[in-house]
Amino acid sequence: MADETIFDKILRREIPAQVVYEDDDVLAFRDVNPQAPVHVLVIPKKKVGRFAELKSAPLRDAGAFFAGVARVAHELRLEQNGYRVVLNNGRDGQQTVEYLHARVRAKTLFATH
Ligand code: AMP
Repeated sequence: MADETIFDKILRREIPAQVVYEDDDVLAFRDVNPQAPVHVLVIPKKKVGRFAELKSAPLRDAGAFFAGVARVAHELRLEQNGYRVVLNNGRDGQQTVEYLHARVRAKTLFATH
């Protein structure tokens, strides 16, 4: 079991975050250090430490995560102009929080949240 991270605590609402979307599979919240007008982090509710672990995870879990990321972009109304999805994996991938998270970034702010 991976170590407890700040994202575990956000998921359990033990520390605050600006949640922009949530469903059975994912939680999305604004990055505290945004690098773009829209910069949210999407985490799977079923914990995965890092992207590499998906190689042996049930396909349903990987699919649920990526579908959830797409739903977040849809809810934020980013589909028309487009957006970027970034996954950092491990030290050389500059992953600092050991809880799988996709960054959804867009340069045009359409979100109503
Ligand atoms: P990474 O470096 O890929 O692991 O990304 C971690 C991201 O989490 C960084 O962009 C941080 O700005 C962001 N972050 C860290 N703590 C929080 C927090 N409490 N709420 C929202 N975003 C956070």
